[in-house]
Amino acid sequence: MHVFKLRSVDYDERVIERTTFDHLTDNREPWYVKDGEKDYQYGVCPCCNNPIRIVGLYRPLPHTDKPYGRHTGKRIEGFPHFDADALEWCPFVKKRKRSPAATKRKLDDLALQILARVLHQFDRIIYLLQKETGMQWSNRFSGELLDGWLCGEGYLYPGSHLRNIPWMVAYRSRGISIFGQKIVDDDNLIAAITRKIPGALIDDSGRITKHGPFYEIGGVFLGHNVTTGSGDLKETICFRVHGQRRQHGPAFETVYSRTIHINPARFDHLVNTPPGRARRHQGFLDLAQQAYQKILPRALLARVHEVIKATGPEEPI
Ligand SMILES: [Zn+2]
Repeated sequence: MHVFKLRSVDYDERVIERTTFDHLTDNREPWYVKDGEKDYQYGVCPCCNNPIRIVGLYRPLPHTDKPYGRHTGKRIEGFPHFDADALEWCPFVKKRKRSPAATKRKLDDLALQILARVLHQFDRIIYLLQKETGMQWSNRFSGELLDGWLCGEGYLYPGSHLRNIPWMVAYRSRGISIFGQKIVDDDNLIAAITRKIPGALIDDSGRITKHGPFYEIGGVFLGHNVTTGSGDLKETICFRVHGQRRQHGPAFETVYSRTIHINPARFDHLVNTPPGRARRHQGFLDLAQQAYQKILPRALLARVHEVIKATGPEEPI
């Protein structure tokens, strides 16, 4: 991998590069460890929170001109977090022991951390997904999205990790009606809906409404695609809108689809906004609290709160 972060509680990842490493760590322990004549550099994997060893930072490597990080596969002094299960599913790990057919991870530390972050950052997750789709969603729609993710135990999906949380909430939810939602920044979506669904109307505010009999229109996130070519992780999902194109035709046909490129920096940026400048949406945060209380078993909810407590003030809220 070519990215790292300093601590498991951090949200921001950095490119592995000498000046950045020197600047962030001051070449101090536990990131820079001197052992006799040798020195070692460490960091944390932004996806699975496990320690990584950084190689090629101070001495050129024979096989590549770029320094990179690789999982240590064990606990390292100064890095208290080590989670073997999360490591097995980390997208930066090439050889997995488990069958790719497995559709769920067990409830490990990583899943609990994902649950904790969604609870604390739900307003930002919705903000980001709205930007990604060019839409503005109601509380009803946002709540259904979260319910779908929680009911389907989306936090156990093996493709979820700490860098792709907002997009995976969408992807591991379910198809939801988008009737009544607003399209605020995607003229192609407006054109596709009005051209392909006879009864559809988009009003002046961008709201999806009708000028005839009721019709079905839904949105869904599909096709999570992951590539780790040359150590850089690239992920996409697809936002698809389907609707009733003819009154007596098949119930649903695709009317529009858009590929979304997962860019972890966009979420990091929102989460790391200084408190004075951050605009939080309390309504969405309350909605997340209610959904967790309604859907999660009590024992699981208690474990999520334990994680939140343990991460303490370092967890940006
Ligand atoms: Zn990892």
